Amino acid sequence: MRRLESYACGEWVAAPEHGQILHDAVTAEPVAVIGSEGLDMQAILDHARSIGGPALRHYTFHQRALMLKALGQHLMAQKDRFYAESWATGATRNDAWIDIEGGISTLFVYSGKGRREMPNAHLYLDGAQERISREGGFTAQHVYSPLQGAAVHINAFNFPCWGMLEKLAPTLLAGVPAIVKPARQTAWLTECMFRSIIDSGILPEGAVQLICGGTGDLLDRLDYQDAVSFTGSHATGLKLAQTPAIQRNATRFFMEADSLNCSILGRDVRPGSTAFDLYIKELTREMTAKAGQKCTAIRRALVPADRIDAVAEALRQRLRDLTVGNPRNERVRMGALAGQAQRDSVAERIRQLAQDNEILLGEDLHADPLDADAERGAFLPPVLLHARDPLSSSAHDIEAFGPVCTLMAYHDEEEAIELAAQGRGSLVGSIVTEDSAIATRLGIGVAPHHGRLLILDPVAAKESTGHGSPLPHLIHGGPGRAGASEEMGGVRGVTHYMQRTALQGSPDMLTAITGRWMQGATRQLDEYRHPFQKHFDELEIGDAVITAEREITLEDIERFADLSGDRFYAHMDEDAARRNPFFEGRVAHGYFLVSLAAGLFVWPDEGPVLANYGLDDLRFAAPVYAGDRIRVQFTCKQKTDREGEEYGEVRWDTTLVNQNDEAVANYDVLTLVRKRQN
Ligand code: NAP
Repeated sequence: MRRLESYACGEWVAAPEHGQILHDAVTAEPVAVIGSEGLDMQAILDHARSIGGPALRHYTFHQRALMLKALGQHLMAQKDRFYAESWATGATRNDAWIDIEGGISTLFVYSGKGRREMPNAHLYLDGAQERISREGGFTAQHVYSPLQGAAVHINAFNFPCWGMLEKLAPTLLAGVPAIVKPARQTAWLTECMFRSIIDSGILPEGAVQLICGGTGDLLDRLDYQDAVSFTGSHATGLKLAQTPAIQRNATRFFMEADSLNCSILGRDVRPGSTAFDLYIKELTREMTAKAGQKCTAIRRALVPADRIDAVAEALRQRLRDLTVGNPRNERVRMGALAGQAQRDSVAERIRQLAQDNEILLGEDLHADPLDADAERGAFLPPVLLHARDPLSSSAHDIEAFGPVCTLMAYHDEEEAIELAAQGRGSLVGSIVTEDSAIATRLGIGVAPHHGRLLILDPVAAKESTGHGSPLPHLIHGGPGRAGASEEMGGVRGVTHYMQRTALQGSPDMLTAITGRWMQGATRQLDEYRHPFQKHFDELEIGDAVITAEREITLEDIERFADLSGDRFYAHMDEDAARRNPFFEGRVAHGYFLVSLAAGLFVWPDEGPVLANYGLDDLRFAAPVYAGDRIRVQFTCKQKTDREGEEYGEVRWDTTLVNQNDEAVANYDVLTLVRKRQN
């Protein structure tokens, strides 16, 4: 039988022959043997820390982002292999799509975000320069740098590919090596994809390792530069978080755990309406996708009391004809749970729920599967319950991790909010309504109990990704029972694997360390060569021009008003302008100042500067009147190399000052600048 292999210290290590046997969720046939006995956990950690970490940190954010893209392309080209391995997990083709292609798309999103939102450098700057002194000689900037240890990823069984990739993408982008530990139940699929990652040769040695089986004493060896990202049950998470070494060394521990997510039907939504159908569709999908084994599935459906029967009937109709069975058969809409142990555990929880909730559908727990043996395969039918007393229902506490949902009646929004909060912290909630007042009341009421909240109406529904789909752009995680951590959320997720440090010092020192020119730092003025005459690679941070002065006249203001059509009274009417508390008379248009600044600082001849693609953070600090004299301090603030392109991005600090040396406007000009040919 196939022996799963771990990947440790650059070697594939097979499970012992007599390891634990894993079974096909549909046929119960043995699939593989798993076990990690004999792996040296200290050596794995050392390999990550001393080989993988330095190798990854050698690259910039953009270079690592490009690795993620290449990896995504490589895995996408191999996807048929993963689909073939996925059947035995019980997943239908649609379920596998979420896991496999949804997981791969996380790599692409992080690659794009890494290159658009992070610098092509080794430090990530958090926010703007902080002014902390009167003269500006002492200043501060928050920066993120990668942790120097390893990230241990402990994943749940339900998404063997997505679960691995959604953690790997931000970790690798941060520059931190990962040790992946998949849940045993479905580890053969993770192993298959992981093997493909290694075979691609895209990641440096030590960047990723795999433990198929138990983690032995790995967690006892972690220190404060390491991190653990755990997905699984609250009970396991709590136990692992209390590992003495993790407590003693304050190792970062992120937990994504059980979640009794709710979906609320707004009181405005009547049976027969489009919004009502949306609600039913969403409930059906969340009960049946992945046979309900989604951490984000709707476990509690909160419905106005007078519509419980209508919702139950609509669900009955939809679920009655659902084909459950062997996912290899194309007619099957819901496959098996991940294994018999899962099925038995879910069945036991349904029995517990049935003590104070009435089962409306699926009472006998018999699925009658198509193309499969009901005894050997891990099948369950969709099970719908109804809470007799919603406020004290056990459905707020018991997570049946399968195709199970409980209907709960509510009478007004306050009661709906109270019921939602009974989940004691959820990954996601949704509200189906077309009434913005109801959406606002419910939204503000339930937001503190959720990590993500979907407001669904027919407009959003056209493109909605649904209640149950975490997106790499958005945070995935929730308060309380859900683990009180966050994953993904774009660049936020990358910073989980980095240390934030408040750097303090002189503007020149901070410019040198951060690679971004700080206000107050030295400017290099070159009277023979304008910075616009320099190629990207010749420009240095701090290269600057200080322009000649230009006096503003009333005629300028009149002519700009004619040209632009902007005849706002503060520019045109002396008396009206004086009545305005901010002005002492007619003021120059702010946009005129921005335009005249360009007239002062640009070098007009054809040269390496290709385009101006925007302005950032424009602020007008003081009014400018006719007679004022303006000059511009224009300074190369930050350079972002574009890997593989013939140009880079250059950000210029642009400060307009008047005859009294008072800053009247400040902003960043964004340009694309050609690199030298060779
Ligand atoms: P689990 O039993 O808690 O296992 C989760 C992971 O922890 C598995 O990889 C498991 O490995 C590992 N593990 C268990 N004991 C360990 C130990 N002593 N040392 C190191 N690792 C250990 O959860 P599960 O039954 O697989 O997953 C179902 C649960 O996960 C549900 O409650 C569900 O809500 C939750 N879940 C949450 C999310 C989320 O994003 N919030 C997503 C999916 C699932 P082994 O397989 O080797 O035991």
